[in-house]
Amino acid sequence: MRYEPRMAHPLSFEIRTSGIWQMTSTVLCHRGQVVLIDPGYFPRELAELAQCAQARGQLAGLVFTHGHWDHVNGWRQLPAAPVWVSEPLAQAIAQDRESARTNLREAAAFDRRWYIDRGGPPAWPPADRLRSLREGDVLPLGETQLDVLQLPGHSDDGLGLWAREERLLWVGDYLSPCEIPFVADLAAYRATLQRLLSLLDTLRCVLPGHGPPLSADEAREIAQADLSYLDALCEVAAAKTPASEAARAIALPRGRDNPDMHEHHRDNCRIAGLSL
Ligand SMILES: [Zn+2]
Repeated sequence: MRYEPRMAHPLSFEIRTSGIWQMTSTVLCHRGQVVLIDPGYFPRELAELAQCAQARGQLAGLVFTHGHWDHVNGWRQLPAAPVWVSEPLAQAIAQDRESARTNLREAAAFDRRWYIDRGGPPAWPPADRLRSLREGDVLPLGETQLDVLQLPGHSDDGLGLWAREERLLWVGDYLSPCEIPFVADLAAYRATLQRLLSLLDTLRCVLPGHGPPLSADEAREIAQADLSYLDALCEVAAAKTPASEAARAIALPRGRDNPDMHEHHRDNCRIAGLSL
């Protein structure tokens, strides 16, 4: 997908959809400067992203919307540039926390399984290339800037980017039309969805980390379905009566014919304190 700007707002972007889980990478440009959001995943796709970025201008940086392995394993195939991440992710990397190690282990396992050769094992960008962002910060791009949102719930290190003038919002792994919510913290996930819902009236387009760009109405529908699903999880957890049957009966908001989504539902139940 390619988005060309109106004359007054020369922000443009192209979306590339990976062969893995419809993971989306964005080449975002303003006045000859480019940032790549979640560059992924396969080497051939990364080479194409690098070409696309080069054709658009000077690469000013990469952004990871969060630390999950499918979003962070592409940086070495791209030209050297700063890598912007949320503060919790920067800390997890700097302190070599278990979450940071797990993400690398999972990247390595996937690459091994599918014989993907990147010329070396997965790694985090070196400290001198990492830049951390927190709520309220702005990410400069060309002569404009993007507002940074902290979006916990799917992971503790989620980061959103909001182009206010263009009314665009990158949300990482929320509001995907392909997946149910993958929950790390139930209360935080619900709060993040409520927050995103409150922003949707101001938006023209929402860019999820998996799946195609959404209109505000499409995003709203997904947010509401996801909230209903999470509310149902909370209700079953609060009832404390034989929960497993009630938890099994909760309708998934989408992906019901995908066995992986049922596996993720079981994970979500565990996070909510239920077992299946
Ligand atoms: Zn994720």
